[in-house]
Amino acid sequence: MVGHRMQSQPIAELRNVTKRYGLVTAATNLTLAIEPGEFLSFLGPSGCGKTTALRMLAGFEQASEGQVLIDGRDATALPAWQRPVNMVFQQYALFPHLTVAQNVGYGLNQRRPKPPRAEVAAAVDEALALVQLSGFGARRTWELSGGQQQRVALARAIVNKPKILLLDEPMAALDKKLRHDMQIELKSLQRELGITFVLVTHDQEEALSMSDRIVIMDHGRIAQIGGPEELYDRPQSRYVADFVGRSNFIGATGRGREAEILVAEAGGLIFHARGGEKIGPGSPVTLSLRPEEIRLAPSGEGHRMVVTHRIFLGEHTEYHLTSGALPHLVAVVPRTAEAGSALLAPGAEVMASWRDGAALALDAG
Ligand code: ATP
Repeated sequence: MVGHRMQSQPIAELRNVTKRYGLVTAATNLTLAIEPGEFLSFLGPSGCGKTTALRMLAGFEQASEGQVLIDGRDATALPAWQRPVNMVFQQYALFPHLTVAQNVGYGLNQRRPKPPRAEVAAAVDEALALVQLSGFGARRTWELSGGQQQRVALARAIVNKPKILLLDEPMAALDKKLRHDMQIELKSLQRELGITFVLVTHDQEEALSMSDRIVIMDHGRIAQIGGPEELYDRPQSRYVADFVGRSNFIGATGRGREAEILVAEAGGLIFHARGGEKIGPGSPVTLSLRPEEIRLAPSGEGHRMVVTHRIFLGEHTEYHLTSGALPHLVAVVPRTAEAGSALLAPGAEVMASWRDGAALALDAG
């Protein structure tokens, strides 16, 4: 489990793994240890190499360089069927001519010697119960909704109790509401089974809500690995700060330090930022300020700004602000905190403030 990270042997490892397709390098020098029982996600934009990383764990692709270890064994050259690993795909790939139960039991029935019929039936029932489809065994797959079909695909992938379940954007075909429900179900299924889940997604909310740790990918490389809160609160680069959550980026200049805090200046405004230990006086620094850190009030303390846009989004409202020092700042105000600022229409003047340490210093770039 994640809690005893240091003691346990990783269930899978990538060691300096690079994957090239002809002239394209899809993954560069990936090094990563996956802990038994953890829920790990690869997150990044299209083309960043996350599917390639997953397919190398599955055995569908071979590393061009480096080593893949599964369950303590060198699996670099091991074919997919010899790995204790199963994969769930975005397209569920169910057999339309088979019933739900036959789909789920398909892999078990391909084994030689063929397991006894009662054994297969019991395993299929157990897997269907785990995905909350008890009683659906005799149905045809076309009689099921998209969400139910995805559950059948999941049942089929867990029926032979793999050590690792790999999931390649398994919810991409579902609508937003159903996807949210499935995320919660998938997370509780993973807890119940106690097996390692490795998910590929480009949806940050999906990764944040389900993962113990997230691997952020950038152009085939690992940009940062960490828990959801850690990545959100302490991104190490502008890329990660921008990809996990949203941020205002402010170009500033270092002015000095006050204990843990960097004092920086942008357009005459002083910021007290976390991090930036390497930033000296006079050095450029990029500050990241989350929109929800900005407080708005019609008057009082703060920095005078003008509202350029007000975007109502239900549970919160987004304000776009401008001033001489900060040409473009986005603030997000929860519905419950907005009552007093309902007059902040475009053109209104407002006082924007944030606490010391709300901004995070990143290398300028
Ligand atoms: P997506 O979310 O769009 O699937 P991804 O992050 O999963 O993207 P990969 O599918 O791993 O990205 O692809 C990484 C890079 O490798 C891309 O530039 C892609 O075009 C290239 N690539 C992937 N598979 C192949 C292949 N079989 N042959 C050639 N190039 C490939």
